Amino acid sequence: MTNEAVILTQGLTKSYGNREAVRALNLSVGRNRITAFLGRNGAGKSTTIKVLLGMVRATAGGGTVLGKQITDKKANLDTRRRVAYVAEDKPLYGYMTVEQTISFARSFYSDWRTNVERQLLRDYELPTRQKIKQLSKGMRTKLALLLAFARRPELLILDEPSDGLDPVGIENLLQTLVAQSADGVTVFFSSHQIAEVERVADHVCILEKGGLVVDAPLDELRQSYRRIDLVFPFPAPEREFRISGVERIRTSGHQMSVLASRNAEALVERAHCLNAVSVEVAPVGLREIFLETVKEN
Ligand code: ATP
Repeated sequence: MTNEAVILTQGLTKSYGNREAVRALNLSVGRNRITAFLGRNGAGKSTTIKVLLGMVRATAGGGTVLGKQITDKKANLDTRRRVAYVAEDKPLYGYMTVEQTISFARSFYSDWRTNVERQLLRDYELPTRQKIKQLSKGMRTKLALLLAFARRPELLILDEPSDGLDPVGIENLLQTLVAQSADGVTVFFSSHQIAEVERVADHVCILEKGGLVVDAPLDELRQSYRRIDLVFPFPAPEREFRISGVERIRTSGHQMSVLASRNAEALVERAHCLNAVSVEVAPVGLREIFLETVKEN
């Protein structure tokens, strides 16, 4: 059962007026993995998460989270007990102190782990007597993360969990995500921090204008994406390289740069057949994949 999808959507759509924030989304998030959910501002990440948790109603399509229909209000309550969620805006009661907030959450959740709560309080150096409204942005984020990590959920959904964190906080967060995953918790998190995603994610989904443009294991992306820089003894024959798997071609005189999501070997062979005088193949990082895929769309 390890490959079973914990989040599954079919044609999930959410419109605000005539603006489609999420567009016929087919998402499948595997169990026991860390899946990163990337996309530009306004791509629809937060809306997708809110629809999955039943906080926003889908306009069309549907899906399941932990096997429960997202459109079933009663099932949503059960889902929320089994999922720990950190919202993008980290909503907390400003008039409460840190320790009041923690004891309030502790009384709420049956899966609360007091030992983890104490450990994280020490790690995050949170001022327990301070009111939430007096916390810095990074401290609010840390408290919101503590409230999620102190639980023992089946699924962690984190919307921009590193927002406002300093480098020490980010390091701590990444280690916690890996530890949670090793402990059998499925992690689904949105982020704009590609370097962090590259360090911890098993699987990457890139959303653009409400639809998926990339949905693959990170290792597979690393292995299949290549940039091929070519030089010809004549003006670069761009049309010869428009084959399946080619994501982008840039040409300047006799030089050409091809970004391929697959078929790199066939492209190299073609370059040799066309008498290229220089053929250089380089791996491509997630940042470049992201920039190229969202730009094209
Ligand atoms: P970011 O990275 O900036 O947080 P996002 O990918 O999370 O962006 P969403 O917040 O899901 O994007 O927004 C997707 C689209 O839906 C945007 O065009 C946004 O303006 C619109 N939108 C989101 N919430 C609402 C709302 N309550 N009413 C109207 N439009 C909304």
